[in-house]
Amino acid sequence: MSAKIISGTEIASQIREEIKSETERLNRDYGISPGLLTIIVGNNPASVSYVTAKQKTAKELGFYSVQEDLPEDTSEETLLSVIDRYNRDPKIHGILVQLPLPKQINENKVLYAIDPDKDVDGFHPVNVGRLMIGEGRYYPCTPYGIQQMLIRSGVEIDGAEVVVVGRSNIVGKPISMMLVQKAKGANATVTMCHTGTKNLSSHTKRADILIVAAGRPKAITADMVKEGAVVIDVGVNRIGMTPEGKAKLCGDVDFDAVKEKASAITPVPGGVGPMTITMLMLNTLKAAKFAHNIT
Ligand code: NAP
Repeated sequence: MSAKIISGTEIASQIREEIKSETERLNRDYGISPGLLTIIVGNNPASVSYVTAKQKTAKELGFYSVQEDLPEDTSEETLLSVIDRYNRDPKIHGILVQLPLPKQINENKVLYAIDPDKDVDGFHPVNVGRLMIGEGRYYPCTPYGIQQMLIRSGVEIDGAEVVVVGRSNIVGKPISMMLVQKAKGANATVTMCHTGTKNLSSHTKRADILIVAAGRPKAITADMVKEGAVVIDVGVNRIGMTPEGKAKLCGDVDFDAVKEKASAITPVPGGVGPMTITMLMLNTLKAAKFAHNIT
């Protein structure tokens, strides 16, 4: 049996169509465009390419989008004052500060300065707390994308044994917390694994749904996966260059071997990756509707 390939590219494009038509409705019926601000400090090439992709998508969806490019030597105080200005700008509904930030700036201080109502990355402690108590407003984009991929692929989450490898604040912890909630698209039994886990494969082999966010190329091999499991590979590892000079990527799962055992699997690239920016756009749309009390 070869697994069904869950295409993040296809699901993301479906969700983008929905966002686009909802944006048209907001525009037509209320004269509102969802407003997204991206802030970048310095010109780290990876950060520039992420922010450019976010701005491009926002424009394609009909959003009002603004980018602040600040120099590498920007002080924390200056960055905080820029955030404060946009916290008070009614045309901006979502604020994203591209990480990492230069050393002179305390990242947490900056993230905590964003108005929680405009925190479309879902990293502010208020939004983390809301997620924890089952009243999430903005879910962090990568976990939100994973949950949507599972739901839209018809995977039964309710009652499933979910094993998450990784406990980072941006992927492992939030996806675990989302899927354990007593709610639709959740209600799973969740185990979170990390480098302190003894006998990792004894856990992964129990998983109906295995979510891997370890950042270790091919760490999950076929013998660690249950027959018929659904496998979501979040890892993005650069393992060299293609002849065309592009980065060669692989996930945290040994795709070729695991796809012969799983019932469904996400590829890398083309799996979780394309979902992340799309969910940022969905959060920005939500933020605009929330700000204007639109259901
Ligand atoms: P991270 O902050 O480095 O966290 C990795 C987690 O995996 C840690 O909790 C670590 O455990 C655990 N871990 C590492 N090796 C392990 C092993 N051999 N066995 C068990 N647990 C292990 O990484 P992250 O930010 O969550 O990202 C994870 C991967 O997803 C990376 O490849 C990243 O590039 C990718 N990613 C992709 C997207 C996307 O949009 N597609 C978004 C975000 C991240 P400890 O806590 O004990 O150290």
